[in-house]
Amino acid sequence: MVKILSIKVGIIGAGPAGMASALYLKRSGLDPVLLEKSAPGGQVVSTFAVENYLGFNEINGADLSLKMFDQMNYHKIEYKTFDIKDIIKKDSKFIVTNGNDKLEFDKIIIASGKRRRKLNLAKEEKLKGISYCAVCDGTFYKNKDVAIVGGGDSALTEAIYLSNICSKVYLIVRNEVRAKESIFEKVKAIKNIEILKGEVSELVGINNLEKIILNDNTSLDILGLFISIGGIPNNEFINSLNLDLNQGYIKTNEKMETSEKGVFAVGDIRDKEYYQIATAINDGVIAALSIAEEE
Ligand SMILES: Cc1cc2nc3c(=O)[nH]c(=O)nc-3n(C[C@H](O)[C@H](O)[C@H](O)COP(=O)(O)OP(=O)(O)OC[C@H]3O[C@@H](n4cnc5c(N)ncnc54)[C@H](O)[C@@H]3O)c2cc1C
Repeated sequence: MVKILSIKVGIIGAGPAGMASALYLKRSGLDPVLLEKSAPGGQVVSTFAVENYLGFNEINGADLSLKMFDQMNYHKIEYKTFDIKDIIKKDSKFIVTNGNDKLEFDKIIIASGKRRRKLNLAKEEKLKGISYCAVCDGTFYKNKDVAIVGGGDSALTEAIYLSNICSKVYLIVRNEVRAKESIFEKVKAIKNIEILKGEVSELVGINNLEKIILNDNTSLDILGLFISIGGIPNNEFINSLNLDLNQGYIKTNEKMETSEKGVFAVGDIRDKEYYQIATAINDGVIAALSIAEEE
């Protein structure tokens, strides 16, 4: 049976984007419900140290997530543990289901983020020194040797970023560099970036990464390995909706509206250039204000 709640906006995902939407909707007099399959905070929960979020010189990701979630509780924002499997549009309403229960909303904000694409090597989860975000963690490797895996725009941009901090940056590209020519030219001109063709086949170290071995048996003594081979958007539940996508990421306009009327997308699930906590919050705020303006 469909349970009719006195709410209007269902927010899928309680990462920074979803929580920002919830806060602004609630303060605009609307009743948002945060639907989260795991724990509030999203990718931030597993971030060792956040050093680029305004207001904190450095904060552990789990602590930052907790502070964000405290704010949800302070504003009495409804939160449900709910693993969304499908969203069905029925007339002008949206029925969200986890396979058993159904919830009905007038509008939906998709804030389900992304998960990292991994190399799937032994010790990848365990060793300190493996990162998926150069902007976030690069500073921990000041004047040290590091490597970055990937051949796209992001990997090359991150290599340039790291070259200003680290003494040496190995850029490991599996096949060809796929980045824009302008970025590639910049990389080629930087003295402390060395491009190597190959694949990482082994991560060596006990607690901290000490070296990596490539598939041609070359070994590189590095303390940091940055993996920039893309993310996987958490979009498994959107098939019943008519959403425009770019490689799985949801396209929106500047108001965060998707191609399906009444559905908004914010944060890392959105097709955009920069994926950060601040940009996720920016999207969340804009979606909420767009909805509040319509009401
Ligand atoms: C290792 C790492 C370090 C980082 N460090 C920094 C940093 O220092 N500074 C910075 O600005 N950014 C950093 N980032 C990026 C930042 O964490 C993300 O840009 C930000 O978390 C995106 O927020 P979001 O709310 O869009 O998505 P997410 O944080 O991905 O949250 C999405 C939420 O949706 C939930 N969800 C997904 N599918 C479903 C479903 N079917 N049903 C219900 N819930 C669902 C997920 O469980 C998750 O909680 C880092 C990222 C990583 C991976």
